[in-house]
Formats: sequence, structure tokens, C-alpha cells
Amino acid sequence: ETQKETLGFQTEVKQLLHLMVHSLYSNKEIFLRELISNASDAAEKLRFEALENAELYEGDSDLKIRVSFDKDAKTVTIEDNGIGMNRDEVIEHLGTIAKSGTASFMSHLTGDQSKDSQLIGQFGVGFYSSFIVADQVDVFSRRAGTAVTDAVHWSSRGEGDFTIEPTEKAGRGTRIVLHLKDAESEFADGWRLRSLVRKYSDHIAFPVLMEKEAPEAEEGEEAPEAKAPEFESVNSATALWTRSKSDLNDEEYQEFYKHISHDFAEPLSWSHNKVEGNLEYTSLLYLPGHAPFDLWNREAPRGLKLYVQRVFIMDQADQFLPLYLRFIKGVVDSNNLSLNVSREILQKDPNVDKLRSALTKRVLDMLSKLAKNDAEKYASFWKEFGQVIKEGPAEDYANRDKILKLLRFASTHTGNAEQSVGLEDYVSRMKEGQEKIFYVVADNYNTAKNSPHLEIFRKKGIEVLLLTDRIDEWMMSQLFDFDGKSFQDVTKGELNLGEVETEEEKQQQEESAKVLEGLLERLKPVLDARVSDVRVTHRLTDSPACLVLGDYDMGAQMRRIMEAAGQ
Ligand code: ADP
Ligand code: MG
Repeated sequence: ETQKETLGFQTEVKQLLHLMVHSLYSNKEIFLRELISNASDAAEKLRFEALENAELYEGDSDLKIRVSFDKDAKTVTIEDNGIGMNRDEVIEHLGTIAKSGTASFMSHLTGDQSKDSQLIGQFGVGFYSSFIVADQVDVFSRRAGTAVTDAVHWSSRGEGDFTIEPTEKAGRGTRIVLHLKDAESEFADGWRLRSLVRKYSDHIAFPVLMEKEAPEAEEGEEAPEAKAPEFESVNSATALWTRSKSDLNDEEYQEFYKHISHDFAEPLSWSHNKVEGNLEYTSLLYLPGHAPFDLWNREAPRGLKLYVQRVFIMDQADQFLPLYLRFIKGVVDSNNLSLNVSREILQKDPNVDKLRSALTKRVLDMLSKLAKNDAEKYASFWKEFGQVIKEGPAEDYANRDKILKLLRFASTHTGNAEQSVGLEDYVSRMKEGQEKIFYVVADNYNTAKNSPHLEIFRKKGIEVLLLTDRIDEWMMSQLFDFDGKSFQDVTKGELNLGEVETEEEKQQQEESAKVLEGLLERLKPVLDARVSDVRVTHRLTDSPACLVLGDYDMGAQMRRIMEAAGQ
């Protein structure tokens, strides 16, 4: 009697499979990195669960990954003795995509292969990348702690469906057998596989074993006796963050990033630190190159990978960074936390607060370094994440000054819409006698740039920041000053241009005010119901009149937000 069942892939998986095979073809070798990355995750999960239940080791706590091949059968096999999967887990993990942002990802696909391959890369390729090189994949898995007879065999040709049936498996963990497409048989080769492991997976903390290559028998020599194959580790097999900086090159840091972030693209920057003393930790924090699909979803998973004394504890530990730095990826490994920490315990442990403020500083320092040393990279960071950073000044009072220096704005100084002007630049260009930092908030760049409120500033050559992001008015309402200079919305209240105005100008203004007094007296009763005051202004040079808000009035942008919310 057979218990083999055929199940269909979730629609999204079918789409992803199709796309993956067609658009990632030029990166096909990454399948090995993805499978080894999964094997390593599985080993870490087992080690974590075994902290509570050592029996899961079944007497074998020597965690490792093995890569083998068969030239004649054209197969490559990746095997681990990690946590393994039971039937339900296999169906869920290898038949659906559970990631948040999947729908959004799917809706961004264009059908243009080069664009789509970029997108898939950002989304994370994972297990399904096996089908770039294989026309059949068999997975044998047994979850740690279950019976030898409770193993499962999953098999698929990467089209619409897969089969699943019970099987027996002596060792726990997962064995994945790739049946290579004819055109990809080059991967069933020791030299090729070894070099791929070294290139992509050297940083994996568990040994990746391959069979020792037997030396070719020389002529006249007797063929060596057949004996059990000997295996050797092909990678460094030490957790990358425990190694010293001087020992690591950029490629190694980049590959490690891809492993922990499930990102396919390069990170923009990283910061690796070992700290000893009262608070002992090692951190390796990365700045991704692009925003994830779910950056604005408050429920989206975020946070660092947490290790305690080199043992993996949890993914997405979100206690170690503030919300406005939620896009940072990385690892924190601490000796100050206990091995049996849980999310609940983390919330109460005072060491977590200390780590959080230390790591926040690391990130802010990394960003200011980037701003200083690589303007181009910083500009691309700002495009991707600037709006999130703008939540920072309100969320993180202690670091407000540092965060303010990281902000970038469009400005009348540059004449284009790019947000590239920092407050330090602004201050360095302030006119003699200018006391305030002037800004205008509008819905878009053109409206801001053409605001009649700017006329007087243009005439006097005073720079004004042009703020057009949704969050801007709210952010400015949280700010008071920078470098001792207060912020002033040019549409609000009296314009005090400080010492910039000359005595002569003041006199002129007073005179013209007198001349216009009569006009004001006639205008006030006419506009009475609609405005709170009518004043003579020197803000305008070309336009005859403009509306001005009181100092404490809600700005136009904020008012629209409140109206939209039904207030
Ligand atoms: P990701 O690694 O980003 O979660 P993958 O497509 O690579 O996505 O893998 C999907 C899921 O399948 C993993 O999250 C894991 O639960 C499961 N999985 C894959 N390979 C293994 C393995 N070797 N051992 C145990 N579980 C695995
Ligand atoms: Mg994976």
C-alpha cells in the first residue's frame, strides 16, 4: 500500500519557480549557497532546542554539513544533521511562501527579466533556487526527536506540484538530492563544488565536509583497496563575527550578509565590533543596499540575530535597536545574557537596554562615517531609508543631535529636488546675522519651490529648506533647534530675518506701512470672517498678497492629514 500523495504548489510558488529559472540563470551557482545556508540554519535551530532537551541530539552533537556528488548519476547531494522537518513542516516550507511582503513582491514583477531578477534577489531566493540547475529535487527529512519511521520524502520536478510520502531515515536532519539538468552536469564535480563552497560558504560556522579527492593511481601501481571514504572540512567553520577584522576581506563580509539577511544584493556598509569589559559583546551590523518591501508594515519582522556565547538563540530579536533603525541587519553575540533567554526575559533584562544604546550608537556612527566618506553611497542610503530616519529625532531624544546631522533636505541652494543638503551645510552657509534655519513644507517639490513665501528669501540670498515628505511637518513639530539655531517655518507668523535686515530697509518698511494703513483698515472688515489679521508684509517681492499661518497654527500638510483622518 502506498501513502504517496501529490500536492499542488501555492500559486505564488509556481510563479516564483518559473521566474527564478528564467531570470536567475546567469547566477545559477547560488543554489549551493542557499542550500548550505538552510543547512546551517537547521543546525543552529537544533542546537538551540537542545539547550532545553539534550535528547534531541540522539547521541550525536557533532553538527555538520556534507556535500557530495555522483558524476555518472549527475546528482549533487547536500546533507545536514540539523533540526529536520516533519511532514507538515515540509509541506509548509517547501510548498508555500510564508514571507510577509509576498503579495507586494508579486505585484512589482514586470515580465522584464533583468528587472525581475533584481526583484527576486531582493525578495530572497532560498530553497527554490535548486530548480535553476535541477529538473528533479528529492528531499529526505526527519525531525530531531521523532522515530526513524517518521521521516518524509518530498519530490518535485519544479513544475506545478510535488509528491510526499513517508519513509525511513536513520539519521535526523535533511538530505537534499539534486538531479541536475543535462546542461548543468558540470556541477557534479569535486573541484567545482569545492570552489563554490569556499567562495560562498566559507563563513558558515559548521564544517562543510567533502570527500577527500583520492590521488590518481599511477601506472604500474596497484589500484588502492576500496575503503570507506574520508571527509575533510572545506570551509573555515568558525562563526565569522568571532574572527578578527584584519582576518576578513570584503567578500567574506558580503557573503555573510547574504546568509543572515536572505538578501541577494550587496550591503552598503557594515560595522564589526568586539567589546570587552562589563558589557561584553560582539556585533556585526549591516546597512542593506535597498529597502525591503515591507519597510512600512509595522508588523513586519525586523531585528538582529541574537547569539549568546556563540549559540544561536533567536532571529528577529527586535529589542536591540530602536524602530527608526529597523532596516539594519546583523548579529549580536553577548556574554552578558543567559543561554535560556526568551523574548519575555529580554524585555526585562537591564543588559538589553545597555546593548541597545551601544548598538544604536554603532549604527549612527556607521551612518555618519558613510556620510562623510562616501557621498554617493550615502545618497543612495538616504533615498532608501531617509524617511525612516526622520522618525528618529522624536523616538530617540538622547541621540537627537547625531540624527539631525544625518538628515538631508532639498533646498533653494541646490535648485533640484534631490534631498542632499544637511543641516551642517545649511548652517555653514547662513548669512551674517541670520539666526534661524528657514524651511517651507509643501506637498511636492514644485509647490515648495514656487511658494510666494520664498520671494523675500530669494531676494536676500537666504537659503530655505524645501520639505515635501509626508512625515516632514510632523517631524519639524518635534524639533526646536540645531546647533543653537531654531527652526522657522517661513509661512508662519512674523518673519524676523534677524540682523540680515539693514537699518535702511527697516525704515523703508515702516514708511510703506504708514502709507498702507488706510488700505488695511478697509480690508480688515471685508476679510474678517476668514482671516485673523491683515498685515503689511515685506515677504513678497512679486506677488501682491499671501496667506500666512499663525505661529501655533497647524500647517497645511498636517491639517490635510487630520481632515483625512476625519478630525
Ligand atoms: P528562508 O531560508 O529564507 O526561510 P528558504 O526557501 O531557503 O527560505 O527555506 C524555506 C524554509 O524551509 C526554511 O525557513 C526552513 O524552515 C525550511 N528548510 C529549508 N531547508 C531546510 C533544512 N535543510 N533543514 C530544515 N529546514 C529547512
Ligand atoms: Mg534559506
